[in-house]
Amino acid sequence: MAETKTKKGKKSGAKSNGVPKLKFNTGWEYAPAPESKTHIKLNDRYELFINGKFVKPLSGKYFETINPATEEKIAEVAEANVADVDKAVKAARNAYEKVWKKIPGSERAKYIFRISRMIQERAREFAVIESMDGGKAIRESRDVDVPLAANHFFYYAGWADKLEYAFPGRVPRSLGVAGQIIPWNFPLLMAAWKIAPAIATGNTVVLKPAETTPLTALKLAEIIQESGLPDGVVNIVTGFGQTGADIVNHADIDKIAFTGSTEVGKIIQKAVAGTNKKITLELGGKAANIIFEDAPLDQAVEGVINGIYFNQGHVCCAGSRLFVQESVYNIVLRKLKDRIETLIVGDPLDKNTDIGAINSKTQLETINKYINIGKKEGAEMYQSSCPIPGRGFFCRPTLFTNVAQSNRIAQEEIFGPVLAIQTFRTDEEVIEKANNTPYGLSAGVWTDKGSKIFNLTTKMRAGVVWANTYNKFDPSSPFGGYKESGYGREGGLHGLSAYLKI
Ligand code: NAP
Ligand code: MG
Repeated sequence: MAETKTKKGKKSGAKSNGVPKLKFNTGWEYAPAPESKTHIKLNDRYELFINGKFVKPLSGKYFETINPATEEKIAEVAEANVADVDKAVKAARNAYEKVWKKIPGSERAKYIFRISRMIQERAREFAVIESMDGGKAIRESRDVDVPLAANHFFYYAGWADKLEYAFPGRVPRSLGVAGQIIPWNFPLLMAAWKIAPAIATGNTVVLKPAETTPLTALKLAEIIQESGLPDGVVNIVTGFGQTGADIVNHADIDKIAFTGSTEVGKIIQKAVAGTNKKITLELGGKAANIIFEDAPLDQAVEGVINGIYFNQGHVCCAGSRLFVQESVYNIVLRKLKDRIETLIVGDPLDKNTDIGAINSKTQLETINKYINIGKKEGAEMYQSSCPIPGRGFFCRPTLFTNVAQSNRIAQEEIFGPVLAIQTFRTDEEVIEKANNTPYGLSAGVWTDKGSKIFNLTTKMRAGVVWANTYNKFDPSSPFGGYKESGYGREGGLHGLSAYLKI
């Protein structure tokens, strides 16, 4: 199609939300379809949420959170210091001892159901703010992050009064105060993963969101306040890594739940060793997606695209390594390259966008560093020719072929839209190659044969193995890793036991 004007008659390159509108690369052009921002409410400044109230930080300090697609400041956020963390832990302890551990599970459930419903009611607002603060495409925040977050609260609300049925013949007891630290890739969803099981089981919480994406956790605090949840049951303190460390090192915390990098996970593990704190760590990944020659190839290619380019590759379980059986390698590679060309990179708030903004300048630098390492190591790079906005942090979908097993791009977590492709001949060979990684969070298998699926899933050292699909989540199924991907499980029944003495 030689059309140069969009449906609305706007020329390509028109700006929406400050980000230049991009051209679809096959000659087609999409009219901008920006999600409206008129229905959202954001303050210029956010305080700490402690004991049911928004309070000024004792530190007196604030930091900015920006929109990574425009590099513009969205709001100022309080920076909690050690005294603020102490205040939050005291509030959580007080709420635990005086209220939360005493009330029946059926009462706890009512609040949690209410929080779930309120997230659903304000889903559009949450989705837009998530995309503005973190850079992810609105399609994902709207269809994945927000509904899953609401589902998580709903699911764990259902367990709150049935704990003795979850662990028959045993007496489950809450732990006390949980310190929870989350990353920037699924800000609201990670907050839900942490808070919902903790409070459903009768614990109270001090949660720290990541410094680049604090806003949806603070909007959740507003909902928690409106829901009437007793003061101090959930406290949200914002800040940098030091705020997280202050939570980890606080003497009156009974449990640490951390999701983030393996590097910080190791620091936390050391800090907690020798204390009575219970700990769960959900860390990095370097998942293998495996395509056999008998797989439905178009479906598999779509799954690979979803596995690595979804959420800009900012996914711990991203299928960042692809293994293709030699006999179908050429055709799969051609299909992948064709598909990558059609992906739209740009304004996260545009409903056409497939790949939004990279979360931060630092993360974009890390990704670019790895792209250069890949080239230097002798792997062959292919990048989509799509234009990217001049402002903000963006990365074209990228793949590498001629990758050796020892290459750093095949071993280390990049956390960006970069795929490393290798080939294999036999089942044994691919199992060995796929397991040859310090991580073990997830994997994907694409084949027509049920027997092959069973063979591989039992031999893959990964917490989750998807068969003929990828990146599918449900609150009822446990999630977590092996080896350097951490330990403990979140989700499902397993997620309950992480917050209980049984
Ligand atoms: P990160 O640097 O480890 O940060 C995670 C959180 O820890 C942030 O809130 C961070 O605060 C805080 N933090 C930093 N240093 C700390 C310290 N010394 N003590 C306590 N807390 C500290 O990870 P990230 O870069 O935000 O997230 C990406 C990583 O998360 C990837 O490796 C990814 O694979 C992993 N991840 C894993 C899962 C899973 O379920 N397994 C899920 C999602 C992500 P600041 O933001 O202020 O630095
Ligand atoms: Mg931000």
